[in-house]
Amino acid sequence: MHGFHGRLLHVDLSDGRASWADLPERRLRAFLGGIGLGTSLLYEHAPPGVEPLSPANPLIFTSAPLVGTNLTTTAKFAVVTKSPLTGFIGDSLSSSHFALELKRTGLDAVVITGRAPSPVYLSIADGHVEARDAEHLKGKSPAETEAAIRSAERSRGFRVAAIGRAGESCVRFATISNDGRHAGRGGAGAVMGSKNLKAIALHGEREVSVAHSSEVEGIARALRQRSLGSLTDKYRSIGTVANLAVFNRLGTLPTRNFQRATFDEADPLSGEALTESHFSRRHGCASCTIRCERLFRSNGGDEQRMEYETVFALGPLCGMSDPDAVLAAARLCDHYGMDTISTGGTLAWAMECGERGLLPDTQQLGLGFGRSEGIVAAIPLIAAREGIGALLAEGSKRAALQLGKGSSYWAMHVKGLELPGYDPRSLKTMALGLAVSPRGACHNRSGAYEADFSGAVDRLRADAGRGALVAASEDFSAVLDSLIVCKFLRKCFADFYDEAAELLTAVTGWRVSGGELRRIGERINITKRLFNQREGWRPQDDWLPPRLLTEARVEAKRSLLALDAALVKDGSLLAAEERAALDAGRARLEGAMAADSRDEINAAAEALEELSKPFAERRMDRGIREALSGLSVKELETRVGE
Ligand code: SF4
Repeated sequence: MHGFHGRLLHVDLSDGRASWADLPERRLRAFLGGIGLGTSLLYEHAPPGVEPLSPANPLIFTSAPLVGTNLTTTAKFAVVTKSPLTGFIGDSLSSSHFALELKRTGLDAVVITGRAPSPVYLSIADGHVEARDAEHLKGKSPAETEAAIRSAERSRGFRVAAIGRAGESCVRFATISNDGRHAGRGGAGAVMGSKNLKAIALHGEREVSVAHSSEVEGIARALRQRSLGSLTDKYRSIGTVANLAVFNRLGTLPTRNFQRATFDEADPLSGEALTESHFSRRHGCASCTIRCERLFRSNGGDEQRMEYETVFALGPLCGMSDPDAVLAAARLCDHYGMDTISTGGTLAWAMECGERGLLPDTQQLGLGFGRSEGIVAAIPLIAAREGIGALLAEGSKRAALQLGKGSSYWAMHVKGLELPGYDPRSLKTMALGLAVSPRGACHNRSGAYEADFSGAVDRLRADAGRGALVAASEDFSAVLDSLIVCKFLRKCFADFYDEAAELLTAVTGWRVSGGELRRIGERINITKRLFNQREGWRPQDDWLPPRLLTEARVEAKRSLLALDAALVKDGSLLAAEERAALDAGRARLEGAMAADSRDEINAAAEALEELSKPFAERRMDRGIREALSGLSVKELETRVGE
């Protein structure tokens, strides 16, 4: 077999037994590797209704056909399990050297079940499997654990994935980390911790076999060249942190627990400002030519990797504008092994509860919007499940159910997974994508925001055509995540399905068509949904938090104030008749608000939104042009990615 090894390893940590099984070619062709193969194995190996933190829940690591082929951005692996945060499928990707080493072990998948009687790390090397004592690694960060194991096994060149204190404590949004990267969303680290498994150390020397090596090399060369062109400019110049300022201007930057979609104090956190003030160096995953990672440093401290999602979640979402505080919070999350989006989302929920007088512990801790001391104090407590940390370690959905008092209303999650940094109120296709994603509020398993940013649809209005866009986006992501190719390379394909089919044919020797790849994407997503249905999914789980559905007009009222401020500043952009129409529209809305007529408020706010749109676009266009030298709004929006 080419591209795969056709082998699976199953380890039961309860008795330390290891067994190997063949993976039939038919199955690999049906699900590929990565997320697809992991999904099919989860369906097979998870007993129906299994409790996520019980020994029977399988923790599955999968490789993929393109890994190890020298194709840019393909050094990735997947971790799939039943999520302790959502109770549905939990699927994450991570990258770099651990992914290459997994492929070199001669395995396509490792399925881990059971629970070791005491902390262990799993050593898989050259066909030998051993659970080794990890008592001395307890409490260490993932990076410290990785360094300790690699140093002890220096001669064998191990690569290591590990959990931190949060995983050991079964924090429901704990990560598994390797090479400074994370299988981040959904709490796979808690599942690993529940098995008393501190780390997995791999070493192998198996070569990757490809069917047509000269064709693979030709495609690899072409992709490398394209990956260095204008289609990846954003990722290579500033990195994903570039999104923050743009999202703020587009009114889609979730702020103060989604109370707002813009952040007045965003400037110091913009990619441009962070680069100016805190940039240390550019970095990337193994085998990657794009190298989108940015490492930042504050006050002479250690380097810290930050993406847009981390800056959003620990910054505007928590009302924080101080880059040093955001860097410190991000460093703590990495140190303890916690998903930054869920950490920020859960902390923002707690801050709002504190503001409303429902969670007195927040006052003692100084935990409130914009207060850096509280956030820095709370993260270690979550990792250790101490004090208020025991509640927050459950994630916003469960914490709100425990606290009660109506606090579920401002727990901003879908299926238990906290929302990423895209405000669904101003991205209507993305709103649907977030609502229906099998793993909860997710910006990676669906790139529905691309339709909104492309200008092909009105991002501020929903219509019946969005379902097809969301489904196509989910299927596309499933294929990318199963081959595996980094999403930041996606625009470098002229016709993704046909070119990816050509690539897969060259690697595996199968005759694959673009149409077959499309069906594979669809099959993977249907299998995810079947798994979720089996585990208790109900139609009402595909829904958005009520705040996003009921406070749209609150946002409109805030927009009214912002419009007033803008008119004072930029009123010269308006013609006299436009100004008069806006004044009339504002008077109508104010009248409706005074009469407290809900229907009339909605109608008047919508009418005003419509009236102010050309003005808003002119202002936005001017502001963005000033900031980003010559890009039109359309160009800018189409370049906004993850
Ligand atoms: S583009 Fe970024 S995330 Fe993707 S493989 Fe390269 S460094 Fe890793």
